[in-house]
Amino acid sequence: MIKVVTIVGARPQFIKASAVSRVIRDLHGGSVEEFIVHTGQHYDENMSKVFFDELDIPAPFLNLGIGGGGHGAMTGRMLISIEEVLLSVKPDWVLIYGDTNSTLAGALAASKLNIPVAHVEAGLRSFNMRMPEEINRILSDRVSTLLFCPTDAAVKNLFREGLTTGVTNVGDVMYDVALYYKARAQSQSTIQKRLGLQNDFALVTCHRAENTDDPNRLRSIMIALSEIAERIPVVFPVHPRTRKLVNDYGLAMYLDRLIICDPLPFLDMIALEQESRMILTDSGGVQKEAFFYGIKKLIF
Ligand code: UDP
Repeated sequence: MIKVVTIVGARPQFIKASAVSRVIRDLHGGSVEEFIVHTGQHYDENMSKVFFDELDIPAPFLNLGIGGGGHGAMTGRMLISIEEVLLSVKPDWVLIYGDTNSTLAGALAASKLNIPVAHVEAGLRSFNMRMPEEINRILSDRVSTLLFCPTDAAVKNLFREGLTTGVTNVGDVMYDVALYYKARAQSQSTIQKRLGLQNDFALVTCHRAENTDDPNRLRSIMIALSEIAERIPVVFPVHPRTRKLVNDYGLAMYLDRLIICDPLPFLDMIALEQESRMILTDSGGVQKEAFFYGIKKLIF
């Protein structure tokens, strides 16, 4: 029996893990035992629990409850707790996803204990070291044994950094998820009706630190969205950190012209994506889904 500890903590990781955990459960006939460890990085019910329920992800073996705080404090606390978990579970592998602080903490804790790390979504690069995600990606890839890349471009990025062994293009796990849930979202989601939407609308997400943390930049985005909303209804499921900063910076009035809602469960989100006329986003996952579903998109 191979023991795998999977580290997740943020919304996109739950979505990605749903595809791989299903395969671990279904295809390996019990030869792989998975222990899902949730760091607690995303803790609101609509950013976390709803995904476990809706996407049939096994309940986490442990929730470390580490959310909030600065990057250093959060990553450090995760490192301490994940190391304790790994020492007690003694897994053969640690599985990490994407590019969050939970990814990096999992990679560091495991590699320092000489436990091999498998990284799903390895090799992605923005070539912008000011993005916290870029630092997490580069460092996590450097200490990973198996690097599961979504594209040939990601493989090439790793080769340029001298990482050539254990590197495979396995295809994009987000594409697997987008295809797997596409029809179910169309048939089950009632979100368009609940929001009172006709067919013509734009869908927005915004949560990247580069866009939200600078008040002037966030103001520009909010003004642009309220101008677009004069022409076409704009639906905006607001990420908790964006909502907080919009309020802190006194920008809440710009939301008045938009159709705002809390972060959506995944099936509602991809149902809206498929029906929208265009998608405006700074999300890595949402821009990919827009491409998969053939929707026009603008990335900011
Ligand atoms: N998502 C969701 N509900 C929302 C907004 C996004 O289910 O209200 C999904 C979206 O469909 C995509 C993923 O969350 O699969 C993207 O996550 P996020 O934008 O938080 O992170 P990123 O992809 O930028 O790392």
